[in-house]
Amino acid sequence: MIVVAAAQGGRFAGATQIQPGEDCPPGTTEVRPRTCQAPSTPPPSILDYRPDSTLVTPAHKVPRAKFPAIDFHGHPQRLLGSADGLASLVASLDSLNVRVMIAADNMSGDRLQNAVTLVQGTPYKDRVRMLAGIDLRGVGPGWAERAIKQLEADVKVGAVGVGEISKGFGLSITKADGTRLKIDDPDLDPVWDACARLKLPVFIHTADPQEFFEPIDAKNERWLELSLFSDRRYQDQRFPRFEELMAERDRLFKKHPRTQFVAAHMGWHANDLGRLGKLLDSMPNVSTEVGAVLYDIGRQPRAAREFFIKYQDRLLFGKDSFQPEEYPYYWRVFETKDEYFNYYRGYHAFWKLYGIDLPDPVLKKLYFQNALKLTPGLPHDGWPR
Ligand SMILES: [Zn+2]
Repeated sequence: MIVVAAAQGGRFAGATQIQPGEDCPPGTTEVRPRTCQAPSTPPPSILDYRPDSTLVTPAHKVPRAKFPAIDFHGHPQRLLGSADGLASLVASLDSLNVRVMIAADNMSGDRLQNAVTLVQGTPYKDRVRMLAGIDLRGVGPGWAERAIKQLEADVKVGAVGVGEISKGFGLSITKADGTRLKIDDPDLDPVWDACARLKLPVFIHTADPQEFFEPIDAKNERWLELSLFSDRRYQDQRFPRFEELMAERDRLFKKHPRTQFVAAHMGWHANDLGRLGKLLDSMPNVSTEVGAVLYDIGRQPRAAREFFIKYQDRLLFGKDSFQPEEYPYYWRVFETKDEYFNYYRGYHAFWKLYGIDLPDPVLKKLYFQNALKLTPGLPHDGWPR
């Protein structure tokens, strides 16, 4: 690159010329083809640059879902620890039109029993259902028999599925012999077969966004998140690579065609809907859940609308982290044609969202019908037709 003393009559004094294909040097931007210039006032940091949009276009806030919803990816956590907590959870769900929350908090044994007893003893007994947790640590001889016994006991108590199987499965959990527990480890096969026999959907979170495995630099879409949360960095080679985890996951799904799997977070392929479509095409036992990837759905409204219509039988609504004020962003993306509106979490996405305007029959499948079909243990009466 060459620094130009007074290019183009002094207009771009101090500008830097670059070669075709070269990036502008740090602190400068391309003001004309291959001409880079630094701003003359100090730039705000990426944290502080929050320009007000001047776009004027119809806006529709959607505080309540158009149809009653099942949140397949609930983390009520301590709200299920007391009657007051449960009442406040239900008040929030009422205001959002979420009829059932599925608690994916990996409960088992006494903790599950206590939560079920609490919910059953209130007028809200049909507002919450629990998934059972499977303890995947220390897999080795005898593990599967114990895990299946515990799972059967948890189903008797009231568990309606399994999950959320955490991202630690594949990333970091080790076997009794100290090696990494691979997602398609054959020692686990009897448990996945038991899930099919017991008609339990298996809700599984595998890996994390692909960018979490990439270098943390100015080209990484998730730079800010990686900088804020050190436990989301998997650049270190002691972690398996993203594609290795995806391959193990897909082999698991294929190996157990009678087991119903629900891939959380759209399998981390919401940024590549073609890839997710191929996965769903080749594995009819897999559904996928939309929690915490709204930033990818809402930045490609045309492709996402097409995808949600094409795969309308394979998508479940779920929110993940329980923040009642965040659900309306989902309703707005799914239900409206609104353009260029703010997302709720700056560190996920520095861009805006667009509505994908789903037809009512698709919304009903996404919000409740697909979850009901997949989960015999949910309350099945009183839903809209
Ligand atoms: Zn979760």
